[in-house]
Amino acid sequence: MTTCAALIVAAGRGQRFGGSQPKQYAPLNGGTVLRRTLKAFCAHAGVGEIVVAIHPDDAALFAESAKGLPRVRAVHGGAQRQDSVRLGLEALAKNSPDLVLIHDGARPNISAVVIDAVVAGLADADGVLPAVAVVDTLKRVSGGTVGETVSRENLVRAQTPQGFRFSLILAAHQKFAGEALTDDTALFERAGHAVRIVAGDESNVKVTTMDDLARMNAALGEVRIGQGFDVHKFAPGNSVMLCGISVPHSHGLEGHSDADVALHAATDAILGTIGAGDIGQHFPPSDPKWRGAASHQFLRHAYELLQARGGALTHLDITIICERPKVGPHRAAMVASIAKILDLDESRISVKATTTEGLGFTGRGEGIAAQAVATAKV
Ligand code: MG
Repeated sequence: MTTCAALIVAAGRGQRFGGSQPKQYAPLNGGTVLRRTLKAFCAHAGVGEIVVAIHPDDAALFAESAKGLPRVRAVHGGAQRQDSVRLGLEALAKNSPDLVLIHDGARPNISAVVIDAVVAGLADADGVLPAVAVVDTLKRVSGGTVGETVSRENLVRAQTPQGFRFSLILAAHQKFAGEALTDDTALFERAGHAVRIVAGDESNVKVTTMDDLARMNAALGEVRIGQGFDVHKFAPGNSVMLCGISVPHSHGLEGHSDADVALHAATDAILGTIGAGDIGQHFPPSDPKWRGAASHQFLRHAYELLQARGGALTHLDITIICERPKVGPHRAAMVASIAKILDLDESRISVKATTTEGLGFTGRGEGIAAQAVATAKV
């Protein structure tokens, strides 16, 4: 039986990406970019051993991304992509598979269909490249002006996994070690081997920038709704904090922090989208550190937890329930305040108010209640 291994290249530092960590370890759809890539190969019955070429500094990040996945092991890559591929191939040489698929760790949307097409193509070819058509008109430019229009005829965009007969690609990498070639098929062609084209997939894109990642997270995420509710009672004072705005009133609100009941409800709503507990767990009232604390930091913390999971907040809708103070005159400032805390467009924030027609504790003017609903893609 033909054996097929996969080599995932994930040793790059991602100079164009600009995140706090290499792009292959950036959060994507509840895991990381690399984890999603690895899962696609682990789930494919035609792929046996999976070797990942990583940067030596990334051992811990890799372990987290590969946790629980079968048949996956890491080897240290080199300074350039080509060195990493060669070192990965040499690591695979011990078991010497018949075929190898070489794939970018930062192409997490690889489908079983494309993997199948590459493997099938290797039945009667030594090298296979998945590619997609060039649909946009191409222009050669110089100094900000168009020089000429380039014909799209016979042009395709190369993707990965690129598939090869293992012994041939290993020999080619060893022969041309140290030369800078852009991809593995370029090196394979240089060694005199033919490369067959099979259909790639438009969604098999490479994560290169933060924008790519945000788009991918938005496309992959599922819609989650979180809700929050909070009450604070009135105490002596002359203003209340609502949505980060100080609103003059005949009383203040009692609470361990600044008692911003609206931001507390909003914080719990955002935590709810990721099942991350409640505000009291993250900021215990028993901790003197939070005495009188400005509540915008609670909201910001919840939002950053959501972002750390690759999530994006779509909308936040807050309802403040009280007879007094009147919220209307402050509504615009409240929306602006929350938009600023979350660095979101004001169109994604809603602040509403209602009374309870004189009924219940809010009707008797004993305190203020607030509820919030957060919508997120996670
Ligand atoms: Mg509270």
